[in-house]
Amino acid sequence: MPSFLHDRVDSDAILEDIRSIVEIESPSRNVAGVNRVLEAVTRFFDGTGAVCERQATIDTFGDILRVRCDPRRSEPGILVLSHMDTVHPVGTLARKLTWRRAGDRIYGPGVYDMKGGLVLAVAAYRRIARARRRTPLPITFLFTPDEELSSPASRSFIEREAHGHRYVLVTEPARDGGKIVTARKGIGVFVIRTHGRPAHAGANPDKGRNAIAAMAELVLAIERFNDRPRGITTNVGLINGGTARNTVAEDCMIEVDLRFCDRASASEMEARILALASSRPDIETAVTGKITRPPFARDRGVDLVFDKAAGIAKEIGFTLESAALVGGGSDGNFTVDMGIPTLDGLGVDGDGAHTNHEHLKYSSIEPRTRLMQGLMERLE
Ligand SMILES: [Zn+2]
Repeated sequence: MPSFLHDRVDSDAILEDIRSIVEIESPSRNVAGVNRVLEAVTRFFDGTGAVCERQATIDTFGDILRVRCDPRRSEPGILVLSHMDTVHPVGTLARKLTWRRAGDRIYGPGVYDMKGGLVLAVAAYRRIARARRRTPLPITFLFTPDEELSSPASRSFIEREAHGHRYVLVTEPARDGGKIVTARKGIGVFVIRTHGRPAHAGANPDKGRNAIAAMAELVLAIERFNDRPRGITTNVGLINGGTARNTVAEDCMIEVDLRFCDRASASEMEARILALASSRPDIETAVTGKITRPPFARDRGVDLVFDKAAGIAKEIGFTLESAALVGGGSDGNFTVDMGIPTLDGLGVDGDGAHTNHEHLKYSSIEPRTRLMQGLMERLE
């Protein structure tokens, strides 16, 4: 009998483990918090026989944890990718998003994105380890500290590790009622600065060159780059400039977010943004930035592993669907771009990622744990 169907799933015990790491606040830039989560996750593997290896990244980020469940096997296997960081600042748990339950909903910072999914993947593996079953493929977990910042420190670790694997399973949250993710947009991140000339706004207005006014025109140009039919979005999400109301602004800075569906639009839009320059006299424009995540484009490999997952879900008793193209990126973008069959959105169902109503659905813990365990037991 396949064990993913018949082993009892103790959702309360899994929820307690989720709670234990949700109560350690771990925004990406909080090294101590992220590393405390890492230590708690390491303890989840006690007694399983897995080998936990902690590796430093860079000073400003927490460490990476690699867990080899089958250290004596060297053939390409399954890589499970989870991130330990959240977007919620320390203090969120005490005030805006306390741990609480309302019916099927469990609230807490990072409970849905993605501490819930992280814990259920470990729980799925522990059930296999406890029964001393051998999976067709060796399993490796990688827990990273900086996904919410587009993985600047861990990208190279992820790519190096993924090279030796046949499949990648990502425990990002499920979408709209349990759908998994098989396609995501790519992301570009840019900073634009305009530099003008300061002057007293009352005494010498004509001597000044206003960097804010010049930037305002660029902001509108970037707005016009939005192209919904092609799935291209641009967003100026941050602006900063000037020194005083009565001074012509010398400097202005914006941060721009770009999303796209394919490589061709990535290069086209990257070039258009890098070419932006104010047409005003005596204004200097500097644009920096790049594509930080390639698109996660559904390909044959993704189709294949999705079909297997859908078959497993059917045996468990639910219909697995994949969400329409998702605008948010994940570490799965890197591995799909490398040509490795990747399934994403395998974590808990819920809603409100990155907000103060973030929650998971308790009822999703059991079927999603079974699905993860089924993938571990069936993928070959
Ligand atoms: Zn996430």
